Amino acid sequence: MPIEDLSKTRRLSRITVLRRGGLIVKTLETELWLDSAGSSEGLTLISHAHSDHIPRNLRKVISTPETACILKIFRDGFDWISLRFGERIEFGDVRISAEPSGHVLGSSQFLIDSGDERLVYTGDLNVYDSIVLKGAKSIDADKLVIEATYGSPNYIFPRREEIYAKIIDWIIRTIKSGEIPAFKVYALGKAQEIMKLVNTYLKIPVITSWTVSKIAEKYVDHGIKLSYLPIYTDEGLEVFSQGECVYIASKRRNPPSKKKIRWAVATGWALRYRYSGFDEAFPLSGHSDYPGLIRYVEESKPREIYVIHGFVKSFVKQLRRRGFNALELRESQMRIDKC
Ligand SMILES: [Zn+2]
Repeated sequence: MPIEDLSKTRRLSRITVLRRGGLIVKTLETELWLDSAGSSEGLTLISHAHSDHIPRNLRKVISTPETACILKIFRDGFDWISLRFGERIEFGDVRISAEPSGHVLGSSQFLIDSGDERLVYTGDLNVYDSIVLKGAKSIDADKLVIEATYGSPNYIFPRREEIYAKIIDWIIRTIKSGEIPAFKVYALGKAQEIMKLVNTYLKIPVITSWTVSKIAEKYVDHGIKLSYLPIYTDEGLEVFSQGECVYIASKRRNPPSKKKIRWAVATGWALRYRYSGFDEAFPLSGHSDYPGLIRYVEESKPREIYVIHGFVKSFVKQLRRRGFNALELRESQMRIDKC
């Protein structure tokens, strides 16, 4: 059959997004779950390995090799289809590709292209460069599913370099006062960013908890240089007991030491909230702030925007003011759009 005839007989496949115990993307022939807590059946696209993005029952997974490596530290027994950054795979009547989302090692945005429509799912998104990762670049989309963790105009972060300078200053002051600076942070992402910061600007050993160490191994395996000593090794324990070091953990538990341990957190919420019981709180986030999210949308130029997580109502309102067709994607059996 000549090519022109083929195109006439081809059914146009539009993309529907719905939320039913999790995010689902549907076309005429394909159903995909996105990072969904409720997806015990079918194929799930996992944007990154933070626990709130991983289904309880993992069956069939599409993810980057980096994300799969980290997943396999904690979970096993799932079928995995590899999707490297820049690669494209065909599945049913769609093509799926992944681009970096700038959030943590391996974190991806997914482009689902039906030929008729392009849907982009950002996952957790950071548009700013960090000392470890490049910021996410916008992808042209017809439909955009975007997170709004910090989608309120109240969240405008200081420049990352300023936050880095304050963290370094606090570490130096704490060590000079004869105490041990310690960070309670996400084991995936923030821990490695602080580790890299210390490695780059200070000649001080970094001691790490078990989870932080295991994930840091995967960063190193994927070409990101990090220097650290796990607390569960003789050398790590010895350096820690001497006290001139930085400790990084995902739980606030003091390893044995004669010196006082001073704890800090690093999270975007520190911009507006106090963290009682901690000596310092740095507004360092793996997510975009409000201006970063707006910039992403303006560059992506979507016809329809579905907002999820965080300041959903506020972000929808702000996008509508800017002339975008934005919706809150509510939990529902209802279809947002018809195939
Ligand atoms: Zn995340």
